[in-house]
Amino acid sequence: MRIYQCHFCSSPVYPGHGIMFVRNDAKEFRFCRSKCHKAFKQRRNPRKLKWTKAFRKAAGKELAVDSTLTFAQRRNVPVRYNRELVETTLSAMERIEDIRKKRERAFYKNRMRGNEERDFLRDKQLVESNPELLRIREVEMARKLAKAQEKEEVDDEDDEEEVEEDMEVDSEQEEQPEKEKVILKNKKKNVKKLAF
Ligand SMILES: [Zn+2]
Repeated sequence: MRIYQCHFCSSPVYPGHGIMFVRNDAKEFRFCRSKCHKAFKQRRNPRKLKWTKAFRKAAGKELAVDSTLTFAQRRNVPVRYNRELVETTLSAMERIEDIRKKRERAFYKNRMRGNEERDFLRDKQLVESNPELLRIREVEMARKLAKAQEKEEVDDEDDEEEVEEDMEVDSEQEEQPEKEKVILKNKKKNVKKLAF
C-alpha cells in the first residue's frame, strides 16, 4: 500500500480513495477528490488556483526549496533489498519529518513577522486621519458613565461592567494622544470612585 499524492492539489490520496486516470501513454494521474479531477479535465492550471499546494509554493507561502523535501522525490533507480538499509531508512524518515516540521514552523513565523506592528501602524493612521472616531468614543464613554451612575442608584452590586470598562480603556490608551490620556485617566478614577 502506498499513499499517493494528488496530481492537482498535492494532498495525500489514501488507499481506496480518489480517482486514477491513465492517459493513453500509460502515465498515471491520481486525484484526491472529484474537485481535483474536474479541474484537471477542464485543463485548469494548478498554479493559478489558490487552494493548491503548487500555488502556495509558487507564491512563496510555503517552504519550497529545502533539503528535507528532496528525499521524497522519485528516483528511477532500483535498490537491492537490504535489511539494514530498510532499518536505517525507517528511522531516518521519522527524523527527517521532525526536521521538516521544525523548518516549516520557522518559515511560517518568519513570514508572519512584523504583522502586529503593521496592524498597529494601520490602526494608528486610521485614528489620526479620522479624529471623529475618537469623538464617537468619548460620547460612548459618557453614555456608559451615565448608565453606570443609574445602576449605582438602583443597586450597588454591579462590578463586572466596571471591570470591562477599565479593560477597554487600557487597550485603547496606546492609540490616543497624551491629552486624551489624561482625560481618560480622570474618567477611570471616576469609575473607580463609583465602584466603591
Ligand atoms: Zn486533490
